[in-house]
Amino acid sequence: MAHDAYNELTAAYALDALDMAEARAYEEHLAGCNGCTAYLDQMRETIQLTGRLSAEAYTGAERVECRHEELAPGDRCPVCGIGWLYSLPPGNAVRIQGHALLSAIRYEVEKLRCSACGERFSAPLPEEAGDKK
Ligand SMILES: [Zn+2]
Ligand SMILES: [Zn+2]
Repeated sequence: MAHDAYNELTAAYALDALDMAEARAYEEHLAGCNGCTAYLDQMRETIQLTGRLSAEAYTGAERVECRHEELAPGDRCPVCGIGWLYSLPPGNAVRIQGHALLSAIRYEVEKLRCSACGERFSAPLPEEAGDKK
């Protein structure tokens, strides 16, 4: 990979969002590249200022609501068939797009819970969010 490609991984690396192999490769590049080292320092400073990985910190982030397609509050529980579903406070998931912190997308995930068996149902994240942590 070329320097530019590594440079784009900086934010993700600073946020621990890279997988092991990517992080290793990034660190190897970092050892020989002053430009990326300086950029990473700068990125870490920004992250400290904005609050690390807390969903609320991404105020500039696009907010996307994820809803169940088949389940709604008041529906009968598909697991036990006895209880009814009610809403829980939505969960948050933040995804960083590329290297820019401000282009993060914050997914608000609808959560439902069964009144009888207690089973929880979380709306799936849209495909573009990927299934990385
Ligand atoms: Zn570099
Ligand atoms: Zn149930």
